[in-house]
Amino acid sequence: MEMKQFLAVAKPFSTEKRGTYSFTVDSDNTLSVYDDVAGHFTTCHSVSKLVRNRIISQELLRHPCPECGKVRIIDTKNGPRGTCDCADRSWTLVDALK
Ligand SMILES: [Zn+2]
Repeated sequence: MEMKQFLAVAKPFSTEKRGTYSFTVDSDNTLSVYDDVAGHFTTCHSVSKLVRNRIISQELLRHPCPECGKVRIIDTKNGPRGTCDCADRSWTLVDALK
């Protein structure tokens, strides 16, 4: 299965500058970043949980509820999820990127 990509400003490599990078996320909110040198996505080992959650939350804000157009970020032990008040549901970034 091909994972959907999104762009975020971050510093995912300790040896590279802060900039705009392509990321993917899987259902347990593991973040991967496109490594230009390797030519494939690689797990973001040097990104703290706090920064990971910020990157995921920022992208979640771009994927509001299709019915009410709102999104509220909630924290779970696996990381942020989006939710809204109009329906009893929540979604991960993977759900949002489908
Ligand atoms: Zn809603």
